[in-house]
Amino acid sequence: MAKNNWKTAFDALEKFDNIFIFHHIRPDGDCLGSQFGLRELLKTNYPNKNVFVFGDAIGNFPFMTWDFDDESKIDKKYYENSLGVVVDANNSNRIQNAEFLLDKRFTKLLRIDHHPVDPDINYDFTWEDNEYVASAEQIGYIAMQAKWKVSDAAARYIYLGINTDSGRFQYDYTQKRTFEVMGYLHSAPHFKVWDINLPLSYRDERKVRFSAYVLLNYKKQGKVLYFHVTKKLQKKFNLSENEANDVNVLANIGDCRVWVFFIDLDNGDIRCRIRSNSVFINKICEKYAPGGGHEMAAGATVHNKHEMKALINDLENEVIKYEQDNNN
Ligand code: AMP
Repeated sequence: MAKNNWKTAFDALEKFDNIFIFHHIRPDGDCLGSQFGLRELLKTNYPNKNVFVFGDAIGNFPFMTWDFDDESKIDKKYYENSLGVVVDANNSNRIQNAEFLLDKRFTKLLRIDHHPVDPDINYDFTWEDNEYVASAEQIGYIAMQAKWKVSDAAARYIYLGINTDSGRFQYDYTQKRTFEVMGYLHSAPHFKVWDINLPLSYRDERKVRFSAYVLLNYKKQGKVLYFHVTKKLQKKFNLSENEANDVNVLANIGDCRVWVFFIDLDNGDIRCRIRSNSVFINKICEKYAPGGGHEMAAGATVHNKHEMKALINDLENEVIKYEQDNNN
């Protein structure tokens, strides 16, 4: 069920002179594209507003410009009449630089998100709708409804978000509206999807070798496929924990319904990236805290082989329940 609509976000954005936009931890194309796309839209359509972006792209999408603002250089006067905006995120433990939101420096807080979550932060304004395939689709939709002018830069950022979170328009919730927003992005004078698609399609040789290894060595329990990206393997393939993480190498193989990557992190945690083509998995992920996400794309945290096994068992049982409920 959606909470509010685009107008809630639009009204809040119109009201404040100083706008600060945040992304989630382990940033992906959607949170970064939403953050910078919104910044570009505001700069073009409200030249008198001051817009700042906080965070770090940690080397992702190097073909894009990620010119973050340095918080230590921002004059305190900009925190007056200010709006803190969280895009594609919700809980404080999922937001990069959440401490700035929690120390109450902003006049009000707005959340624009497509995750169905009741967050621990008391946002003043919320537009949550999990039927948007990407938060960037929400940003593009605001632009379309408000008839905002779209610059080439804004279109490129927003398209990056839509492309990556929809798996190039293949996932559920990709719909007529998604393509209407895509059409609207083409009102930018020189925007072409190819300019993003080409750099996105380049494949790192280390990752290709790693994917081949995963495909030859994954494990299967019932209709759950999984692979453990140990520190040893990260070293063997010369990939960091943020690079050896493409869970969708295991997507839709044979009769599988759910697939999982367990990724050893430097801090000793094991990050779980979980995907499904049918069974809802986000509630199970919430059990393995911090965990949660979308119905069919979610994440969780475990700490040892015992918890890994418990999570796989839970997922397998959920598949069995799903098949019983759906008579297949
Ligand atoms: P990821 O596998 O990191 O791409 O995450 C898939 C989805 O699940 C994203 O929408 C994330 O925001 C969400 N997610 C991933 N990990 C967590 C977590 N530990 N807690 C809550 N949500 C998560």
